[in-house]
Amino acid sequence: MTEPFAESITESITQPTTHCLAPEAIKQLRVAFEQAEAPWVPAIGARARFVVGIEPAAAIRAWHRPILASARRQPVAGITLGPVVYVARAALLDDWPLVAHECAHVGQVDRLGTVRFLARYGLDYARGRVRGLAHHAAYLAIADEVEARRVEAAARALGRPDRLLVPDR
Ligand SMILES: [Zn+2]
Repeated sequence: MTEPFAESITESITQPTTHCLAPEAIKQLRVAFEQAEAPWVPAIGARARFVVGIEPAAAIRAWHRPILASARRQPVAGITLGPVVYVARAALLDDWPLVAHECAHVGQVDRLGTVRFLARYGLDYARGRVRGLAHHAAYLAIADEVEARRVEAAARALGRPDRLLVPDR
């Protein structure tokens, strides 16, 4: 990434950009999914889009905040909605483990559909809280997060592909 890092989501709104996975990243991702024993959804390689600085991201972020970020008091780094991943800062597009993590969520949404994914995700979180887990521990215990972290770890171990994302044409 040669462009300067956007410091906040508000700042990044001025220049929305969309990126898709580079072919070598798709290949590497497939291996990471296999190693993590996460089901690979072939279409996600072609469908996944990464958007920086689009206005709805702020709304989506606010909407997700009760689940994802309330206790940490931190902005959410990445949000997956359907095949689209919204990221707060351009720098995050260069973060291969994070890209792989969000792609795992894209795969989950592809398998389940957005409604079932969100219902299962929310229910899992609520179950954790009912069991007495604090916010962050409950978030970490969500099955879909556990799977995404396995993919993330496998991706980190494999190393970063030469090209990660390319501008969407
Ligand atoms: Zn996640």
